[in-house]
Amino acid sequence: MADYVLAIDQGTTSSRAIVFDHSGRIVSTGQLEHDQIFPKAGWVEHNAEQIWSNVREVVGLALTRGNLAHTDLAAIGITNQRETAVVWDKNTGKPVYNAIVWQDTRTQAIVDELGGSEGADKYKAIVGLPLATYFSGPKVKWILDNVEGAREAAERGDLLFGNTDTWVLWNMTGGSDGGVHVTDVTNASRTMLMDLDTLSWREDIAADMGIPMSMLPEIRSSSEVYGQGRPRGLVPGVPIAGILGDQQAATFGQACFEVGHAKNTYGTGNFMLLNTGTEKVPSKNGLLTTVCYKIGDQPTRYALEGSIAVTGSLIQWLRDNLGMFEDAPDVEWLARKVEDNGGAYFVPAFSGLFAPYWRPDARGALVGLTRFVNRNHIARAALEAVAYQTREVVDAMKLDSGVELTELKVDGGMVANELLMQFQADQLGVDVVRPKVAETTALGAAYAAGIAVGFWNGEEDVIANWAEDKRWTPAAAEDERERLYRSWKKAVTKTFDWVD
Ligand code: ADP
Repeated sequence: MADYVLAIDQGTTSSRAIVFDHSGRIVSTGQLEHDQIFPKAGWVEHNAEQIWSNVREVVGLALTRGNLAHTDLAAIGITNQRETAVVWDKNTGKPVYNAIVWQDTRTQAIVDELGGSEGADKYKAIVGLPLATYFSGPKVKWILDNVEGAREAAERGDLLFGNTDTWVLWNMTGGSDGGVHVTDVTNASRTMLMDLDTLSWREDIAADMGIPMSMLPEIRSSSEVYGQGRPRGLVPGVPIAGILGDQQAATFGQACFEVGHAKNTYGTGNFMLLNTGTEKVPSKNGLLTTVCYKIGDQPTRYALEGSIAVTGSLIQWLRDNLGMFEDAPDVEWLARKVEDNGGAYFVPAFSGLFAPYWRPDARGALVGLTRFVNRNHIARAALEAVAYQTREVVDAMKLDSGVELTELKVDGGMVANELLMQFQADQLGVDVVRPKVAETTALGAAYAAGIAVGFWNGEEDVIANWAEDKRWTPAAAEDERERLYRSWKKAVTKTFDWVD
């Protein structure tokens, strides 16, 4: 009997495979980190072949640890780091270049040139996104412009593009021997190439970027059978039936199905999504308009998104570049040694600033320093930065949607940090709520796949399975929280105009 659904979570730092049972509980997992490749300042790459090999290994690990065979799986869902671009040869299955990761800023000149006199908002009304290095399209153009022979091969129809969902799916379903070249609407909505209304590729924008249409995957819903595991593979014949970009998957796994429901994920970066229903809401306040999910042939659901590039990775930076502690969770212990930030504010504009500013010219700054400030204050300032940036996004959502947040559902690696969660509730003035199953990203992809094959009935099963683990209630005095936030806003302005 197929009593389980497998989710593959191909993330920025690692790939995970998680088996879920019908109640949405975790049965077994496998996880492997992959290399972060930094060839130059601002460049971030992954080895796509290493990612695929890790995915195979973690699927094997999860099945072995759960004492399961592929016949125990009703379906497989895929969720992934979005925007990261892989270009490969469809005949050999070999990538022509490393995957260019979402955080990579090498395409700034391409982006500036594309915008021309019309600027960053040139395509915004169509694709929902400002022109920025973050999205896939300009990354594909960079590969075609810079890898020898790539453009000719692309024009011959030999090259394929995909985010890592597509790369994994193509390989799982047979690779150069009949692999399915498909993506879902949520991933497609992060390329700058998809029309948000028609959910199809825009030939004119692809032409502006010099990307042949033959490279682009077919766009499908987030929940339907795309193909089966290839014969003699790890999961032969198992339907692969759900794809959601990681942040949309977490939104789904958190059961944010109504207009006004929002979740915030605290991982490498922070990503807050607000479900705006079947209407796409254009942003005037620095948010992205994106597809939230589309289940089979049901109407498309849209979201407003606040993307913050650096949150958890600031903690990694304190650990790896400054050697301040051994493990990320130790930051809390340091921060608790002091009562407040000692006047220090840390704006981690390492890749410029994303929402709500979209300032590629910004770079990180630690301000407000006096002889009094010590490492504990800096640890605290780093955690506070995560909460202030989130508050800026919440404020922008209020302005764009007119919806007042009543509580915030949270997930991701950083929500283990209790000091951060309390400070977040204090800054927002609403409750912060953590669910029992913190792996909401994988869970969301599992639900999308399970719903497609009838393993779950639909949203009502997701809602029934969702359970609260812990809630933080605002406790700070109003004047104090506003004083801190004002100082943060001032600190942000110190990071502007750093790069020409
Ligand atoms: P991703 O899915 O983006 O790879 P995760 O959701 O696994 O990220 O979260 C990992 C991030 O959370 C890392 O950047 C790490 O520095 C940070 N992190 C993990 N645990 C803690 C903690 N207890 N306190 C603060 N930061 C943490």
